[in-house]
Amino acid sequence: MKATKNGVFMVYCSCFSRACLTMIKRSPLNLFALAFIFLASLAPLSAAVAVNSVQTTVDRVVDGDTIEVKYQGKKEHVRLIGVDTPETVHPSKGVQPYGPEASNFTKKSLTGRQVWLEFDVEARDQYGRLLAYVWTAPPLSDEAGDKDIRDGMFNAALLLQGFGQMLTFPPNVRYVERFREYQTEARDHSRGMWRLSASQSPSGTSPTVTSIYVGNARSKVFHKPECLAVGKMSAKNQTMLDSRSDAINQGFRPCGICKP
Ligand SMILES: [Zn+2]
Repeated sequence: MKATKNGVFMVYCSCFSRACLTMIKRSPLNLFALAFIFLASLAPLSAAVAVNSVQTTVDRVVDGDTIEVKYQGKKEHVRLIGVDTPETVHPSKGVQPYGPEASNFTKKSLTGRQVWLEFDVEARDQYGRLLAYVWTAPPLSDEAGDKDIRDGMFNAALLLQGFGQMLTFPPNVRYVERFREYQTEARDHSRGMWRLSASQSPSGTSPTVTSIYVGNARSKVFHKPECLAVGKMSAKNQTMLDSRSDAINQGFRPCGICKP
């Protein structure tokens, strides 16, 4: 809360250095009035100060968990702390199931938007990217509660809606307990990528999945990976398909529900 103290200090100084001093000399009653003004100024000040955060605008979304902003006059990539979305542009992993959905969600939610970057212990990762919690509403205090985080922090939104899974970046672990809760909540409710079966999940046994559709070898129907039918499909019937034309060529027809 250093900023608050500075703010208060400034009010105190500017006030006493000007007309107020003569006012105090003239009447002790004015001192009370002044004290009242001074105390009244404390409340709105402490509520309006955003903690350890920088306001900026999202110029571009790189993928689900990485954005580009202007920071101190320079274009910078910002990696969202605590969450990992499936890859869409990774050189070796290619497109992972649910990667495009996560990327589109971040694009839709953040492109062109005013955000507040909150930093943790380390400002940058080994690739020189900024590491931040991205708030769509200004973080108001050090003690952001569950509701503040759910309503205003985009890193949490990704976890809550199942667009990514937890990834801790020690020592940047300010919200790690909350994030664990949010991920459990998303998984328990089969939100987003948690609808996928274990074999397709980005953390599953096959880290280099490149398919974007899932076909059922028995029914010959293919689905978007987030389709409920995929979760119910037995593992041995699941066929990974790289594209829509790949699916059609192999004799699959599109699911009428998820309309791949
Ligand atoms: Zn489907």
